[in-house]
Formats: sequence, structure tokens, C-alpha cells
Amino acid sequence: SISLGIVGLPNVGKSTLFNALTKNDVLAANYPFATIEPNVGVVGLPDSRLDALAEMFDSVKIVPAPVSFVDIAGLVRGASKGQGRGNAFLANIREATAICQVVRAFSDPNVVHVDGKISPSSDIETINTELILADLQTIERALPRLEKEAKVRKDRAPIVAAASAAAELLNEGTTLSAGAAKAGIDTEALRELHLLTGKPFLYVFNVDEAELGNEDFLAELRALVAPAEAVFMDAKIESELIELPEDEARELLASIGQPEPGLDQLIRVGFRTLGLQTYLTAGPKEARAWTIPVGATAPEAAGVIHSDFQRGFIKAEIVSYDDLMAAGSMTAAKAAGKVRMEGKDYIMQDGDVVEFRFNV
Ligand code: GDP
Repeated sequence: SISLGIVGLPNVGKSTLFNALTKNDVLAANYPFATIEPNVGVVGLPDSRLDALAEMFDSVKIVPAPVSFVDIAGLVRGASKGQGRGNAFLANIREATAICQVVRAFSDPNVVHVDGKISPSSDIETINTELILADLQTIERALPRLEKEAKVRKDRAPIVAAASAAAELLNEGTTLSAGAAKAGIDTEALRELHLLTGKPFLYVFNVDEAELGNEDFLAELRALVAPAEAVFMDAKIESELIELPEDEARELLASIGQPEPGLDQLIRVGFRTLGLQTYLTAGPKEARAWTIPVGATAPEAAGVIHSDFQRGFIKAEIVSYDDLMAAGSMTAAKAAGKVRMEGKDYIMQDGDVVEFRFNV
């Protein structure tokens, strides 16, 4: 399944963050059949458009898009050589679609840092080095076999070339997600090796509340990981926010100058890092967001609701969320010519409000 794997050194706030995320869980009731492991949290993608749709359509309930986070504990220096949980850890991270790296930037002297000093840049380097070493091992193990295959099968040449180029990049200390495109490496060819550093990365900087408004400080941290996305939060505050009634939570946020919980931002950025977007459906029963990959066609989008919808797809009646809201109702949007009939080649756009027509 599609998920974000939370990694980071010990004591950086991973569990604090994960617990806050999962307490936030509004989804359990909507996904009763999901078997959820203790280290997996399924949270709802915050989307104010669903509230507006539910009001317009008098929907009984709101179902946001689910986003899965997996708490992958146990990454320590030397993990690629079997330290700590070593290989077990690496197997877990291999299953994640994208990597969410938590980095300590808070200064609390009561919380011991494993290396004795707070240094976001060296922590990131430590983690990335372990992932890079693991990838190098994977490539070194696979190359002899791949080279043998390439001798008898021409179509295996690209993967040999890509794997060799990847090893070179990794040896320079660069992750594939940061450097493969620039180095012209064919990442499609590498897919079968399930390399860790080729996954999309995002970074969560766990900062002191007082620093959340310090733009210079945040810009320095952002520069460490660009072009990957960075989210800033105080995980301790986030875990307190979750316990508060809504009005008190809003007050606390306002007092630290934040427009929304850091968790909401993380879920949104995480969703985007996974390469996903949503389309919307609305009716008296529910207002709902459905998850599709960027670039999905209308029949593929229909298939997310039910495979019969995809098989029997005829067309999709689509209005963009903004047009619908501007018109004020579906009837008015139709009268204004804003509701389109789209066929099987239509590429879905984020925020399309959809009704599918299909044969059963
Ligand atoms: P993990 O080992 O990465 O899972 O880290 P934990 O979430 O267990 O946090 C380690 C310690 O740091 C705990 O005592 C937390 O209460 C504390 N901690 C986590 N986040 C913050 C934070 O943002 N600020 C401060 N001051 N302490 C934090």
C-alpha cells in the first residue's frame, strides 16, 4: 500500500509526531476493514473543500482521503552494517512509497542527543549515509547478475548502465532522489532494485516553538534539503494541540503565530510527495475525496470507487470545485455551462467534482 515511512535518529521526536498524527485519526470509523498495525497510522487529508461540498449537498458525512504513515524505528549509525535493528529496519523502509525524515532542531538539554550535539545537517548526513550504503550494497549484489543477463539480453543493458551510474552518484554521497535527474540516470530502469534513496523524500524539522516564526533560521534548514520539501513544527506542541478542544487549540496556535497545526501541513505535503491528488464526489450520503495518481484518466479515477465503474465507464460529468462554488449550486453551474462531459481520455485535475456514468 502507498505510505510515508517516518525515519530519523533516536530521540528526534518521531514517536511524539507519530502519536500526535494517529490521535488525529478521524478515519478509523470510515475504514473499518483496514487492518492496521500498531506502527501504521491512517489519517485524513485536511481538505476544507469537503466541508463546503457537504454543506451544498446536505451530505450526512465527510470522508477525506486517507494518508498512511508508518513509524519505522531503529535507524542508527551503522544500520547498513547490521547495527541496531539493521536489516529489519531496511526491509520496513523498502516497503514505504516515500520517506519522511524527522530531524531534530529543538534544543531541550533534557533530551539527550545520540551524538551529543544538535546538528541538523550532520543528522541528515548520518541518516542519508545509511540509506546510501544500503543502496550501494543492493547494487553491488545485483550487478554481477545484471551484467550476466545483459550479455544474452539486449534489453537488460539499460539497467546495467543505470545501476553503474547510480553507484557512482551514491559513492559521492548523493541520494538518488537528489541527484539522479541531474546525472541523467534512467530511474525507470532502476525500479526493480527498489533502492531506498530513489524514493521521494520530505523532511520534518522538529523545532522549538519560539523558532517557528524565525524565517532566517527556517530558511537555513530549508536550504539543507532543497529541492525536497521541508515542514516545520514543534512536535511537543502538536501533541498538546491534539488533546485540546477546538477553540483552545485555535487559541494556542494563534499565540504561537501559526495559521494551522504543523500536522495538517505535513499530511498535505506528504500526500503531494507521494505523487497523489484527489477528485471529489458529493451527494446526500457523503462528500468524499478520492485518491488518484497525478495524470490518472477518468476511467482510472472511476476504478478507484469500484472496478465496475472503470469497466463500464461511459463518461464523467465534471465541474471544477472553484466553478461549482462560484455558481453556488450544481443546477446553477450547469446553467452557466460549467459542467463538462468528459470521455475516457480525459486527464483528471485536482479538485474535479465528478459524477460517473457507466454501464453495469
Ligand atoms: P524518537 O526516539 O525519535 O521517537 O523520539 P521521541 O518522540 O520519543 O522523543 C524523544 C524525547 O524528546 C521525548 O522525551 C519527547 O518528549 C522529546 N521531544 C519530542 N519532540 C520534542 C520537541 O519538539 N521539543 C522538545 N523540547 N522535546 C521534544
